[in-house]
Amino acid sequence: RAKEMGRNTFQFYTPTMIERTLDRLSIETDLRYALDRDEFVIQYQPQVSLATGRIVGMEVLLRWEHPVLGLIAPTRFIGLAEEMGLIVPIGAWVIRTACIQTKAWHLAGYTDLRVAVNLSPRQFTQKALAQSIADVLAATGLEPHFLELELTESMIMNDVDNAITILRALKQLGVHISIDDFGTGYSSLSYLRRFPIDVLKIDQSFVNELNIDADAAAIVIAIISLAHSLRLKVIAEGVETPEQLAFLRAHGCDQMQGYYFSRPVNAEQFELLLQQESGAIIDDNVLYFGPH
Ligand code: C2E
Ligand code: MG
Ligand code: MG
Ligand code: MG
Repeated sequence: RAKEMGRNTFQFYTPTMIERTLDRLSIETDLRYALDRDEFVIQYQPQVSLATGRIVGMEVLLRWEHPVLGLIAPTRFIGLAEEMGLIVPIGAWVIRTACIQTKAWHLAGYTDLRVAVNLSPRQFTQKALAQSIADVLAATGLEPHFLELELTESMIMNDVDNAITILRALKQLGVHISIDDFGTGYSSLSYLRRFPIDVLKIDQSFVNELNIDADAAAIVIAIISLAHSLRLKVIAEGVETPEQLAFLRAHGCDQMQGYYFSRPVNAEQFELLLQQESGAIIDDNVLYFGPH
């Protein structure tokens, strides 16, 4: 009877459902081995000064080069890695690779490049975070103020007292802290003042709508002004058009990243961007990029 029920139950699974379950199982297995099999790839997206048009740093963005499925976006596996407890070793690999590469670029003559790395919630609350970052900095020789850690509002608002303790330990090392996707979370302004942070990154959803939605524009202006009042730097994410760029410059935003300047690229391509950079010219509040 039980067997029969089991059978009947089994019949409710359609072939696609079974495939999906298998998919998930095999993705989990694959993810478990991805680090050992060297399947993770890092891309770099330039961050550009709006005052000079020059590349001042880059955000590190993780991809998974799956042997069968091809390049997989981080939004599709970071959550799973977090659930499976794999995000700490994966994240450690990202930080180490980013620091090694940045130090190499410093030695190659690009001496002022900053590197920004995303942290996941589990990484952030992991006991050994500050120590492991201190170890990586010591091992790679990267000066701490060139490393910026990106956190989200929910990560720090979740447990404010704990977050402040962690942030202080990180600041003690000399690394910089930025708040990613700012404006989409629920951070309270009074707490913001208490966090030892350095940078606000305006979420791309506001930047997208800058020139079509007056409310989005108002929010962007407010974030820039808030950041500057708190003596924080402000970076706009997801800049795709010259109009967005002009708006951000006109309102005193410090830096930007986005497809308008460059998509995330691999290390070789990023180095080409650095080499080709002959300084953007600024004309009529418009930045022109590329060789002239
Ligand atoms: P994020 O940190 O907010 O990164 C910005 C995302 O916007 C990236 O997507 C980037 O490729 C994309 N982007 C940049 N410029 C533009 C633009 O002009 N237009 C549009 N439409 N998109 C743009 P990506 O690489 O898919 O990463 C998605 C998210 O995955 C990241 O959001 C970050 O939260 C997370 N992530 C990426 N790498 C890591 C990592 O190493 N560790 C952790 N924990 N999370 C990561
Ligand atoms: Mg980020
Ligand atoms: Mg973001
Ligand atoms: Mg994001």
